[in-house]
Amino acid sequence: MLLKGRKLISRILPEDKEICLLDEANPYQAITPPIVQSTLFTFKCFEDYQNHRLQKHKQYYYTRGNNPTTNMLEDKLARLERGEVCRVFSSGMGAVSAAVISHLKSGDHILFVNTIYAPTMTYAGFLERFNISYSYIRQTDIAAIASNILENTKMIYVESPGSIDLKIVDLRAIAKLAKAKNILTAIDNTYSTPLYQKPLELGIDISIHSCSKYISGHADVMAGAVITSEKLMYNIEEYGFKLHGAVPSPHDAYLLLRGLRTMPSRLEAIQTSTAEVVDFLMHHPRIIKVHHPLAYLEEDKKLFWSQASGYTSLLSFELDVENFQDLAKFVNNLKHFHLGVSWGGYENLVLTPYVAGDFAKIKALGYAPNLVRLSLGLFDSASIINDLKQALS
Ligand SMILES: *Cc1c(COP(=O)(O)O)cnc(C)c1O
Repeated sequence: MLLKGRKLISRILPEDKEICLLDEANPYQAITPPIVQSTLFTFKCFEDYQNHRLQKHKQYYYTRGNNPTTNMLEDKLARLERGEVCRVFSSGMGAVSAAVISHLKSGDHILFVNTIYAPTMTYAGFLERFNISYSYIRQTDIAAIASNILENTKMIYVESPGSIDLKIVDLRAIAKLAKAKNILTAIDNTYSTPLYQKPLELGIDISIHSCSKYISGHADVMAGAVITSEKLMYNIEEYGFKLHGAVPSPHDAYLLLRGLRTMPSRLEAIQTSTAEVVDFLMHHPRIIKVHHPLAYLEEDKKLFWSQASGYTSLLSFELDVENFQDLAKFVNNLKHFHLGVSWGGYENLVLTPYVAGDFAKIKALGYAPNLVRLSLGLFDSASIINDLKQALS
């Protein structure tokens, strides 16, 4: 009833569904991919080994490099995102740090745009001791971005939609601006998954994911991914991947291949419940503002659907409270939500991102201490709405 008149237009491409479901080159006709749980691969004879080292013929060599199970996953993620190549890492931060550091050197500058995942900004701060500087702007308009580009800016790094306040940036415009100045662009695309947003098609150079969220889908795997062109992957693979060494275990790669099989269905299922919950929250008198693509103003909505084909179940809202006691009352009254970080699993999660400090001071710094973030799991929208209703009352 709540959805009357609203057309759900989230859409997963049929060819993407097939990539998620089918395995290619699966030996033994096994229905599940083999987990090649081996650190090394040996050679039949001296000549084979020598030819491999001379790069005359290639074979599997060492898992901090290539592994058949991990390669299967990388192949799928690259195809889903329409990139030439993908490398999978042992965490999202492994992917973020490798993608950022591998193309930079002392003296370079990075421009971060939109509300960025906090540990990524901590990493940017760490890079200052190697003489790599950064600017961080939370504005998203292209004029503000252009005016913050410096002579030595080598990379523009964005998150869109952001994972805290869900703000969006114009990816085509950023890509165009950066290309004209020979600046690399990178996006943290975790919110959308490779099914709903394909930034490389919009001109962005490097796409990064935390696979610990929707791709795993069950809150039991830590992993990350970088998808880009072969040319840009060279440095990322040689330095950030092989030398920093955050490679995934083949078993985790298998769990992610399994996660991919159900991801299209999981995302389709949460679409409906998310739309109903967003609708409920937008009409509730105790809620000041809802942050989610379905709650965007007209202009952002248009931009969103021009660069993504769907939304997911991460959302946030500003609650009508003036202190942490009232915020705590709401959070503690929720019965069907776990309080915790991360998102994208089967469970419902609640998080209040800005609680370290004084309520009024946090507000004065431009952050919303009354912000509540929800990640909706695979539960019925009625049970979620009833729970929110009783906690709000
Ligand atoms: C979780 C997350 C990361 C980091 O991923 P890990 O797998 O936790 O290392 C990066 N970006 C966003 C938006 C995230 O939500």
